[in-house]
Amino acid sequence: MTTSAWLDNQNRLHRECVNGECPHCGAVSHFSLLACPSFNRVCADRPARIGIVLQCDSCRMPLFFRYRVRGWHEDRVELHPSPEEMEPAPERFNYAHLPEPVANAFREALACYRAQLLQAFAAMCRATTEAMLEDLGERSRLRIFDQVAEVRSMAEIDDGTFAAIRRVLFEGETGRGEQQSLSRVQAAVLLETMKDLLYQTYVRRAKLQQALRLRHFPPEPAAAARSTSTVTTVRPTPRSA
Ligand SMILES: [Zn+2]
Repeated sequence: MTTSAWLDNQNRLHRECVNGECPHCGAVSHFSLLACPSFNRVCADRPARIGIVLQCDSCRMPLFFRYRVRGWHEDRVELHPSPEEMEPAPERFNYAHLPEPVANAFREALACYRAQLLQAFAAMCRATTEAMLEDLGERSRLRIFDQVAEVRSMAEIDDGTFAAIRRVLFEGETGRGEQQSLSRVQAAVLLETMKDLLYQTYVRRAKLQQALRLRHFPPEPAAAARSTSTVTTVRPTPRSA
């Protein structure tokens, strides 16, 4: 019988999958083993799960994983092949073009999502749209609503999920009486909707403006040559004898 993860009686941990995306540096890296409980200790305690510490070979940060025990044998402890992740990879977003209050609210929204605090995540998504309206003016509300509706038709979001997203983003306190909570799937759709909304509103506009500025004012050839020559002066000039 084959298993892809087990701890043998010589305290060696065998793993088939030794690479992954590091939650700290984001690199797809090899994870080295830093610490694992001994075979004797595990056999004496017989826990349902064992915890191990790995290290990302790229950034040297420790990573914590939990394996479910699948079977007990004289010479090995068989583990479930895929460990339970203790630190999910962070959701990434480029905040460069966002106004500070919008960026701050969305950064917190992503932190709540990562911690699976879904109602807090919903509240911070609402705070993000509020910050956007503060920045763009109340008359942008309809445009933001249209953008969300566009995401709905493009991504074929079902009615229930769209209603939940609309409630979170636009109805705010009015539905406080029933306090309908967001499901994991709805939260995931809300996350992608928010990313698209922010991209369309700020990032896309900034990139377009930047591209147009470059077209109107291309760097002068003389200035470009000057900046190159400052780099080359570092090189020593050959001396003639
Ligand atoms: Zn790393």
